[in-house]
Amino acid sequence: MTERATEVAVIGAGVVGLAVARRLLADGRDVTLIDPAPPGSGASYGNAGTIADYAVMPVGTPDVLRSLPALLFDRNSPLAIRRGALPGLIPWLLRFARQSLPGATARNAEAITALLAAAARAGSTFSVTSGRRG
Ligand SMILES: Cc1cc2nc3c(=O)[nH]c(=O)nc-3n(C[C@H](O)[C@H](O)[C@H](O)COP(=O)(O)OP(=O)(O)OC[C@H]3O[C@@H](n4cnc5c(N)ncnc54)[C@H](O)[C@@H]3O)c2cc1C
Repeated sequence: MTERATEVAVIGAGVVGLAVARRLLADGRDVTLIDPAPPGSGASYGNAGTIADYAVMPVGTPDVLRSLPALLFDRNSPLAIRRGALPGLIPWLLRFARQSLPGATARNAEAITALLAAAARAGSTFSVTSGRRG
């Protein structure tokens, strides 16, 4: 294996890593994209291509918090946590619960709105410059 110095390493060649790498390249940076799998073969493979700039509600909301017990203990629930993994997940679950309270939900929705404000325009530019139809 040859060693090579790189200025920026981007981990993961899904749509997020590829977009970041392309932007860095356009800024004249030397970029290495690292992924053991072929580009776009993860979640990005099944993407329906919608730039969902209206989807500003976070995953954690008071409704989700209220449904958590049912989601955790219903055999047919889409949420499944292996019993053995539960102790290690408790700190994350507590943070998730805190972020699902009404005040945090409103703040998170506002933050997502700000992040998505330029998404549709950026998505079209990305489609055009990558040769895909927007
Ligand atoms: C069926 C389906 C339809 C969807 N439709 C839409 C839609 O219409 N609109 C929308 O906005 N979103 C949609 N999504 C969600 C969207 O596809 C994902 O949010 C997005 O693809 C995530 O991109 P990503 O680059 O973060 O992840 P991924 O595409 O999963 O890429 C992550 C990459 O990181 C690599 N990787 C992981 N760990 C390591 C490691 N340790 N070292 C190196 N590489 C690593 C993986 O091999 C993978 O290639 C959809 C998702 C699915 C499954």
